[in-house]
Amino acid sequence: MEKVTMDKLTNFCKQYGFIFQGSEIYGGLANTWDYGPLGTELKNNIKKAWWKKFVEEQINVYGLDSAILMNPDVWVASGHVASFSDPLIDCKHCKARHRADKLVEEFTNGKETGDGWSNEKLEEFIKQNNITCPKCGKSDFTPIRKFNLLFETKMGVTEDNKNKIYLRGETAQGIFVNFSNVQRSMRAKIPFGIGQIGKAFRNEITPGNFIFRQREFEQMELEFFLNPSEEEKWFDYWRKYCMDFLKSLGLKEENLRYRDHKKEELVFYSNATTDIEYNYSHGWGELWGIADRTDYDLGTHIKHSNADLTYLDPMTNEKYIPYVVEPSVGVDRLFLALITDAYKEETLKDGSTREVMSLHPFLAPYKIAVLPLVKKHHSQKALETYHTLSKELMCTYDETGNIGKRYRRQDVAGTPYCITIDDETLNHNTVTIRDRDTMEQITLNLDEVANYVKEKMKF
Ligand code: ATP
Repeated sequence: MEKVTMDKLTNFCKQYGFIFQGSEIYGGLANTWDYGPLGTELKNNIKKAWWKKFVEEQINVYGLDSAILMNPDVWVASGHVASFSDPLIDCKHCKARHRADKLVEEFTNGKETGDGWSNEKLEEFIKQNNITCPKCGKSDFTPIRKFNLLFETKMGVTEDNKNKIYLRGETAQGIFVNFSNVQRSMRAKIPFGIGQIGKAFRNEITPGNFIFRQREFEQMELEFFLNPSEEEKWFDYWRKYCMDFLKSLGLKEENLRYRDHKKEELVFYSNATTDIEYNYSHGWGELWGIADRTDYDLGTHIKHSNADLTYLDPMTNEKYIPYVVEPSVGVDRLFLALITDAYKEETLKDGSTREVMSLHPFLAPYKIAVLPLVKKHHSQKALETYHTLSKELMCTYDETGNIGKRYRRQDVAGTPYCITIDDETLNHNTVTIRDRDTMEQITLNLDEVANYVKEKMKF
């Protein structure tokens, strides 16, 4: 099937209340997005799914919700102040700004990513291959400059540099600085993990592709602390676990792939890194980064803060700095992958067409739509049903238009089940339940509906 274009998806999201342009009535603010009623539900369900599989169902993973604003020394220690930067290159001809590594990646169709390359190596490659500006087609670039991605802001009332702080560039540092707090308060034993979901901010040079690359986005990060002797075992475990999670949410296998980083691409402290990539409308791109970060993060915080972040194994009396494996995924990028995968335009037997969002029932904004067949006769019972069912599941109610039109509205919202309240319901307490994907209907007792749908939500 043909892939849905980004323009189509953007318009679809706006029309049906998934995602709106940020600050739209003021002319917008470039590359900011507001999640609408359906988008908010879907996004919350993505986060619930991750939390369930990465925190709740793990016997040794604990949750955290750390502050966005942190002591600026955290970002000095982590290396972000010195080197959290992208290679910025300007086209001298049309003044367009680019990321030099992305020019290389696009030119080689992803064979080279430019990750870990020096500025000199990038400049040389661009020159030798005569890579041109994607905007004007000329090959006349400025030298590369490093551009730091941290957002700066000021805390408190005096406006001098003493009060300079940063919006966090990733949620992970909030986890590392709380390593001992969590370990001690939960009496956690290695191996154990700390998971967190939250906003991150990066002053990206080239935001775009809808919600794929934004300056304000959300991350779901797990830092899994382990004995250095087990690094390979746990890296392989989480690498596979993340892929299985994506498939269990219904993402098509052919749209997912691993990209293992080559040795020369690895940051100096990482022993292994794999990206899980998704085949977005604009091409393959990183969805999830899984990295073996060794003892770099805890080690650097020990050096800069003098805190004791070592671990004493109570069984062996061995004292060491734990290694960490980090699976880190963006909520928005997963959202984009899921809607790209779920969107379908179908021609039905009668020649009419329909748009459908075939989202997994766990993720769907509404689980059940309650539809009275004839408003005059059935709306009272339907409203009663809505109020009963919505105590257990997110439901919606629609009594306007013919039943066919109402089904279509639920198809675009991704609602997996519609129940119709009719005379049979009034007389025998039964309803017809319609499946979004097959459009088939079966009859159920009203009391069975919630459990029927809950069963389908399992993943
Ligand atoms: P990229 O190479 O695309 O810039 P990255 O390697 O810098 O991404 P990480 O630092 O590994 O990304 O961040 C972990 C995850 O956070 C990414 O896999 C992605 O899902 C998400 N993410 C990173 N940057 C952004 C962004 N600007 N907008 C939306 N999501 C992002």
